Amino acid sequence: MSDLSSRRKFLTGAAAAVAALPAGGLLAAPQATAPTQRPAAQPRKLPAAGQFPVKAISSKNGLAATKRAYELLMQGKDTLDACVEGVTIVENDPNDMTVGYGGLPNEEGVVELDAAVMHGPTHQAGSVAALRNIKNPAQVARLVMRQTDHVLLVGEGALRFARAHGFQEENLLTEKARKIWLYWKQSLSEKDDWIPPPDLELDPEIRKYFGRPTGTIHLAGINAAGDISCVTSTSGLAFKIPGRVGDSPIVGAGLYVDNTVGSCGSTGRGEANLQNLSSFAGVEMMRQGMSPEEAGMEVLRRVAKTTPKRLLDDKGRPNYSLKFYLLSKDGRHAGVSMWGPAEFSVTDKSGSRIEKCVFLHEGEPAD
Ligand code: ASP
Repeated sequence: MSDLSSRRKFLTGAAAAVAALPAGGLLAAPQATAPTQRPAAQPRKLPAAGQFPVKAISSKNGLAATKRAYELLMQGKDTLDACVEGVTIVENDPNDMTVGYGGLPNEEGVVELDAAVMHGPTHQAGSVAALRNIKNPAQVARLVMRQTDHVLLVGEGALRFARAHGFQEENLLTEKARKIWLYWKQSLSEKDDWIPPPDLELDPEIRKYFGRPTGTIHLAGINAAGDISCVTSTSGLAFKIPGRVGDSPIVGAGLYVDNTVGSCGSTGRGEANLQNLSSFAGVEMMRQGMSPEEAGMEVLRRVAKTTPKRLLDDKGRPNYSLKFYLLSKDGRHAGVSMWGPAEFSVTDKSGSRIEKCVFLHEGEPAD
């Protein structure tokens, strides 16, 4: 029996087993109950004007970014500008191989970046997708929002727009990213003409990235006036088909903010968010009265339920990672993850720190 057919057979049984599980799975946070079991939401009292708790939250790779964004929020800078400036630090960092300069390339070895910004006070958004040669796509996305009548520019058009605004083109593929890509390509198949180097000759740093590492930065900030903005920036799925666009630049999928409710953004399998408009869903659930944690967990369960069989493990659980970062208007926040333990970054008046995500399943995704 081929691997595929034995896997299919196994999954049919697994799906039935999952259908019998409680909605939250075995490891769901106890307080994250299904919405139908929830008493009617009580409106929460918001802080007085000018006294909202200032904070910035992000994916784990954005600790320095939240720190910078928080400083700027405290100085009274516009919430979106504060978030973009934080994210720029990570986009410029060649050691973060999931965002901006140094990000892992597509299957042809070319770095293609996606980013989106959303400004709560004006409910405006801007984004760019499959942008090549420009290391700060979040800044370009902000210009799409502020200086065009559009929301999303892609590929060559996005590049020309960036050039028109004076962004310098540069090669975003670092030597390390090129070597990781080359090793991936050489290891793909025994039926092609590419052969990986002998194990002994392979730099252990490169081997560390074997597989398809995932990552992105999402960062959201709230200021003392209670205004909220957020940004998502990524090099996308490593070794993707050229032109593939993930969730990150799609408003409602990779990020969303409603200034009266809160924000949600995501890292992980973009296709799952594109099919569920997960960030929009997270904000809408908070609007209905759920806490950031409850809303995030509910979206994870919804995504898990609609996951196709080919992406379920032998216990019927999604075999990919997915995280949401949620901020509510009253200043509460949460990070939630399909798999855990997992972490995210926060800076507020108590300082900068890594916090733990609540998670749906324990361990690592099987894929
Ligand atoms: N969400 C990103 C995408 O699908 C990738 C990631 O966060 O790992 O492009």
